[in-house]
Amino acid sequence: MREARIDLGAIRSNIATLRSAVSPAALMVVVKAEGYGHGAIEAAKAAVDAGTDWLGVVDLAEGLALREAGITIPILAWLHGEDADFTAAVAANIDVGVSSLGQLERAAATGGLAQIQIKVDTGLSRNGVEERESAALFERAAAHERAGRVRVRGLWSHLANAGEAEDLEQVRRFTLFVAAARDAGLTPELRHLAATAGALRVPASRFDLVRIGVGVYGLSPFEDASSAELGLRPAMELSAEIISVKRVPAGVGVSYGYAYRTSAETTLALVPLGYADGIPRHASSVAGKTGAADRPGAPVSINGRAYRVCGRVAMDQFVVDVGDDQVRVGDRAILFGDPTTGVPSADDWADAADTINYEIVTRIGPRVTRVFVP
Ligand SMILES: *Cc1c(COP(=O)(O)O)cnc(C)c1O
Repeated sequence: MREARIDLGAIRSNIATLRSAVSPAALMVVVKAEGYGHGAIEAAKAAVDAGTDWLGVVDLAEGLALREAGITIPILAWLHGEDADFTAAVAANIDVGVSSLGQLERAAATGGLAQIQIKVDTGLSRNGVEERESAALFERAAAHERAGRVRVRGLWSHLANAGEAEDLEQVRRFTLFVAAARDAGLTPELRHLAATAGALRVPASRFDLVRIGVGVYGLSPFEDASSAELGLRPAMELSAEIISVKRVPAGVGVSYGYAYRTSAETTLALVPLGYADGIPRHASSVAGKTGAADRPGAPVSINGRAYRVCGRVAMDQFVVDVGDDQVRVGDRAILFGDPTTGVPSADDWADAADTINYEIVTRIGPRVTRVFVP
């Protein structure tokens, strides 16, 4: 009934496009958060098929699930609580992102040889060791390395995408961290800083490897460039079958609060997707006091024609006013997909809901069946 079609061929082709754009830097495909809502294991397998060098995840559990699915290429997991236990990750050959002395000590205490990648804060002000604490961390890491408890394979950071000058300032700070790590006796072979946006627009940020997320799924990280302009194909098409069609007179209130009223006799089609499925309630169409829509609802395509959400998006469903068009129960409403096929894009939904395309795809929930097109 509710379906997210995931085009694995699009994922592979996006990876090939991105690989040639950033070459000779190596490629880490980020499959955190269920592969941005696309399905982590299938996205990861497509990435492996496309020759990806690394996979990136946030949680250790995400990395372990990839290993359990039989994926053997290198994996980095980078966001950990203070009490994280890295034993299973080390046993599963998952690299541990280390942002603090506490995490370093835990990584050194697994009884195995932990492959670690030290994250430094070059200006994003999130995780990553700060400059004033970095010398102590680097020295301690070098000592653990000499004792055979850890191997510092990588040094990395993350860009704020605040503008070219700001990004280049982060590049500059990153090179200072790299020099300081070398001075402390570390020899990380992987220096990485860029995600999709930096990889495409800030060549100086590419270093040895780039971590690509949103671009792999065919979405643009830029406001001023579409997927097609970047040579990318959106991999997810979200749709649902229309489960009810009603002919109603003028003046009928639609959905909670009657935020929308019909202006003439018309046909209403019911789509069984709601905010519990990740459809933003902000994509509702809400009428002002005059009855005119203050904000048009998000776009929906039915039988090749474009309509809009009318009234409030509810937990499980929303309504589309299709006028006098012939729409039947069982027809499919396509919310977004590849706009070059004539359907709305995740960017259109992001605009309607005042957010970004990342949030649109990652929030698609578990009631939506993922159908993988090989
Ligand atoms: C999510 C994430 C990425 C991928 O970012 P995109 O903009 O989706 O390419 C890269 N690095 C880190 C640290 C991340 O958290």
